[in-house]
Amino acid sequence: MEKKDIFVQIDELDTRFGKFHAELTDLKQKMKELLEENKRLSMENHQLRKVFKRETAPAREALLKPVGAEREPALFDSQRAHEDVLLAAGNAVGEGHDNLTRLYHEGFHICNVYYGHLRTEGDCLFCLSFLNK
Ligand SMILES: [Zn+2]
Repeated sequence: MEKKDIFVQIDELDTRFGKFHAELTDLKQKMKELLEENKRLSMENHQLRKVFKRETAPAREALLKPVGAEREPALFDSQRAHEDVLLAAGNAVGEGHDNLTRLYHEGFHICNVYYGHLRTEGDCLFCLSFLNK
């Protein structure tokens, strides 16, 4: 094989490798975007399921109640509803923090700078300072 042929071959390989690398970088970026979208959608799905469950709970309760069961007095009803709201508010704060902590450990930013983006370079100081609040 001529020296010139080898050089041409190596040059072609170099060009092909360059294209291959560009394609790989592009695919990596697309993969990152898909992971981020997937996380967003699964969080949205989770939230919607919670809302759906809450919205349909009275209907399901009514269906499960035996026919002819006596209604509780109105005062008791509203008192219980208020307690439920307080309980839900208390849970929501703790639950929100838990969700963010989980999200961070799954590899996503929770800071207001890059929220929802994949953490590709290890820990983020913005996120950590937010978690330690
Ligand atoms: Zn961050």
